[in-house]
Amino acid sequence: MIYLDNAATSWPKPDTVHEAMLGYMRDVGANPGRSGHRLANEAERIRLDAREAIAELFGVKDPMRVVFAYNATTALNLAICGLLPPGAHAVTTGMEHNAVMRPLRALEQQGVLLSVVPCEPDGTLDPQALDEHIRPVTRLIVANHASNVCGTVLPIHELGALARQHGIPFLVDTAQTGGCWPIDLRADNIDLLAFSGHKGLLGPTGTGGLAIHDDFDIDRLPALVCGGTGSRSEHEQQPDFLPDKYEGGTPNIVGLAGLAASVRYVLDRGVDRICEHERSLTRRLIDDLSSIAGLRLIGTRDARRQTAAVSFTIDGQSVSEIARELDERFGIMCRPGLHCAPRAHRTLGTLPEGTVRLSPGAFSTAQEIDQTVEAVARLAGAE
Ligand code: PMP
Repeated sequence: MIYLDNAATSWPKPDTVHEAMLGYMRDVGANPGRSGHRLANEAERIRLDAREAIAELFGVKDPMRVVFAYNATTALNLAICGLLPPGAHAVTTGMEHNAVMRPLRALEQQGVLLSVVPCEPDGTLDPQALDEHIRPVTRLIVANHASNVCGTVLPIHELGALARQHGIPFLVDTAQTGGCWPIDLRADNIDLLAFSGHKGLLGPTGTGGLAIHDDFDIDRLPALVCGGTGSRSEHEQQPDFLPDKYEGGTPNIVGLAGLAASVRYVLDRGVDRICEHERSLTRRLIDDLSSIAGLRLIGTRDARRQTAAVSFTIDGQSVSEIARELDERFGIMCRPGLHCAPRAHRTLGTLPEGTVRLSPGAFSTAQEIDQTVEAVARLAGAE
């Protein structure tokens, strides 16, 4: 079996992730931040370890500024809904996932104004194009770091500089780049960084969060979910300090045990090395797929400017049929369709059918890529 659906969720996970999760379930089991007994303290230590690993990965000085959520989507909702009252204006790009577009569209119903900056047909964006959309009432710029459809990387460093120049908070969706593309919250001028634990960070599903720049004033951002934190329990108001302000309710601590282990794995192996590994597989895929007659590659077709998400269509064939055949005849797992990102597909000119997406990951091999290209060539030739 060949798993090329890492852009949806990565698999396999490092062995240390299974061990950490099993270890927590078997030997710890308690609720962090509550109770104060030795098992609860051990659970808190595990959660702190996850915070520290994420802070190290993204260049956050204070680990308490890493707050956990259940995925990138919840973290994006926390930031987007909290920063945009009715009448405020937000700017985003033509390459966003619905995790960004849907909260923005919902807020539009409540009087938020939205500009979607068009991107080029390969998904790239000139940062100056975004500048023209900024208004005096702009309260948020939000962009993904890389597209989940075709991997195109956006110039977040330049976008961050622009946001800083205008004094507007900059929120980045790193679901596709965390763990496999270098990011530095401070150097890249990111105020709020939403991350997904279960993709390039190689952790379990149900993990993710928001990393907050050390200079960002959290009084500007209300909590999305209020509830028990184990702290200041004499008050019926949500604590106003980090990380408790944004972490009401029992956390996914078994998930965080896995995430701590997975991010340690990423740090030990090195983001640059993982990036280089995935780049060489992406280059191989792009080069070899482009020689197949009737196959159209989507995006930059340049492994230096994209992550390991390679999308294509084949003339006259249905994308879901191609994916089904890859699975049933060749044991290759991929994802066809719109990938929860209709806006990106509109930019790329691939509506309404979408594309077939092959997304290798940290554990994919060149041999798997070769087998996949051969299978795709057979399907293309069979037409
Ligand atoms: N943004 C992008 C670009 C994504 O690819 C995804 C996952 N498909 C998300 C956001 C949502 O991530 P999560 O599954 O962690 O909510």
